[in-house]
Amino acid sequence: MNQILDKFLIIDNEIVKLKIPKRLNHLSSPSKLSCFSFDLPLSVCQNRCLYFKKGICYSKNNNLHESYPSRKKLLKRNLKLAKSNQFVKILTEQIRFKKQRLFRFFSKGDFVNFENLKDIVKICENLPSVNFWIPTSRDDLLIEYFEKQNLKIPTNCIIKLSCPIPLSDMPKFLKDFCKKYNISYSCTSLNKKIVNCPSSLGKNNSQCLDCEKCFSKDFNPVYLIHNPISISNSKKLVAKRINDLK
Ligand code: SF4
Repeated sequence: MNQILDKFLIIDNEIVKLKIPKRLNHLSSPSKLSCFSFDLPLSVCQNRCLYFKKGICYSKNNNLHESYPSRKKLLKRNLKLAKSNQFVKILTEQIRFKKQRLFRFFSKGDFVNFENLKDIVKICENLPSVNFWIPTSRDDLLIEYFEKQNLKIPTNCIIKLSCPIPLSDMPKFLKDFCKKYNISYSCTSLNKKIVNCPSSLGKNNSQCLDCEKCFSKDFNPVYLIHNPISISNSKKLVAKRINDLK
């Protein structure tokens, strides 16, 4: 009779060491959300992002949390995983194991490349009872996916295209693109009157709590810029725009 003994197996009175594959955690728990996320380092998005270049990027300015060695290690191993052929299998397993109905990609980071976008769609297909909120600024990858390759996404895959220009409405051609492929989009503002995200307005202790609007295809969020460094740099950007118009 076989018997499990710690990490050993007794087979016919012989102790055999089990080779259990070691699985490192790849998930994060963003403080404002009550679900898990998969995050990547800013190296995947910073070179093409105006938020980073103008010093408005929230992840860049949230130095305390992002500078923990354990956080840096997690992001590094997540990037390695995202580029590997084990990504879909391992992440599907880890999300399934959590038994939650909501999951967020990229509370930090973005799609690594086109293959990574397709892999994430496969993960959504593997877990149809989970709703995935996937913010991205990669309009180039989405145009390739929907327009050029005519590919589809499952209904639980809620991609939200971030406006490439900070503190601006979405450009019309991207609005039209989103409408055509039933994708929602997000913008940012310093004007509280047009903001429709309760947590960025500081409500509910800046937590999402029961709000799940970002997991809906029909919701186009406008987030308030709320980190002090981000606010300061946003004001400088607005002042420069006004000055350029003179
Ligand atoms: S709109 Fe709701 S779900 Fe989205 S970030 Fe704000 S509080 Fe969270």
